[in-house]
Amino acid sequence: MGRLRKPEWLKIKLPGGEGYAQVNSVVKQHGLHTICSSGMCPNIAKCWGNGVATLMILGDICTRSCKFCATTTGKPLPPDPNEPIKVARTVKLMGLSYCVITSVDRDDLPDRGAAHWRDTVKVVKAENPGTSVEVLIPDFDGKSELIDIFLESQPDVVGHNLETVERLTPQVRTKASYGRSLQVLEYIAKRGFRVKSGIMLGLGETHEEVIQTLDDLLSVGCKMVTIGQYLQPRPNNLPVQRYVTPGEFDELKQIALEKGFEFAECGPLVRSSYHADKAKHLVKGC
Ligand code: SF4
Ligand code: SF4
Repeated sequence: MGRLRKPEWLKIKLPGGEGYAQVNSVVKQHGLHTICSSGMCPNIAKCWGNGVATLMILGDICTRSCKFCATTTGKPLPPDPNEPIKVARTVKLMGLSYCVITSVDRDDLPDRGAAHWRDTVKVVKAENPGTSVEVLIPDFDGKSELIDIFLESQPDVVGHNLETVERLTPQVRTKASYGRSLQVLEYIAKRGFRVKSGIMLGLGETHEEVIQTLDDLLSVGCKMVTIGQYLQPRPNNLPVQRYVTPGEFDELKQIALEKGFEFAECGPLVRSSYHADKAKHLVKGC
C-alpha cells in the first residue's frame, strides 16, 4: 500500500514564536527532555506557544521499541540524581499550575525507575505546592511493589496508555500487553487514584474494537481518555492505515461521555497530554 496523503485537517503550524522560544530555552538550560520533541508531537507549536510542555524523565533513550514511537531505543544512561530538582525548577520557571511528566521505559533498572519517578513527583509537588501533577507512566512490568513505590508520591492523575485495541497491541507495543496495562490501571484506580488512558486511531482497528476498548477502560475504573490520530513519525514506524475524520472523533467523544467517562479528549491532533489541564476541575484541590 502506498503512503496515504495527509488530509487538510492535519496540516500543522511549524514551531516558532516567543512562547516556543521560552519553553525551549528553559528546557535546554536544565538539560531536560520533553516528549513533545522526542516524540515529534504535532502540537508542539501550539502547546509550547502557550507555555505547556510534557517533561520526560529518566533520559531520552528507551529500552523498548514500540512500532509507533519516535523515541530512540538503546542503552540509557544512569538516572540523573539531580533531575527531580531540575524538573521542579523548570515547572516553577514555566509557572505551570498543571504539569505533565512522563518517562521512557527503563527495563534496565532493577526498580524500572520507580524510585526516581517517586522522587521527581515528590520534589515537584514540594517546590510547587499549587501545581497539580499528572503523570504518564510505563507499566513497571506490572509489578505491584514497584507501582506502590511510585504511588508514594501522590500524583493527582496517573496516565498509562493502552495506545491501541487489544488485537493490534502485539504489533504496536511489542514488549507490552493489553491485559497487563489494564491491570496496572485497575491496581492504581483501586488505590484511590484518578487514572487516565489513551489510544491512537488509524492503525487498522475497527469501530467495534474501539468501543470495546472504552468498555474495558471503564471496567477497570478508568474514566479519563484521550483518542487521537496515529501519525507515522519516521519511515521505519508503522504506516498509517486510515485518517479518521474530525466528525468521527466528535462522535467517539459523545459515545465516551455517554458511557460514563468524565474526561474525553478526542480529535485528530489529540495526544495524551493535549489539553491535560482541562481536567483541572476533576483534580482535588484545584
Ligand atoms: Fe507536548 Fe503533549 Fe502538547 Fe504534544 S500535546 S506538544 S506532547 S504537551
Ligand atoms: Fe516509546 Fe514509550 Fe514505547 Fe519507549 S515504551 S518506545 S517511549 S512508547
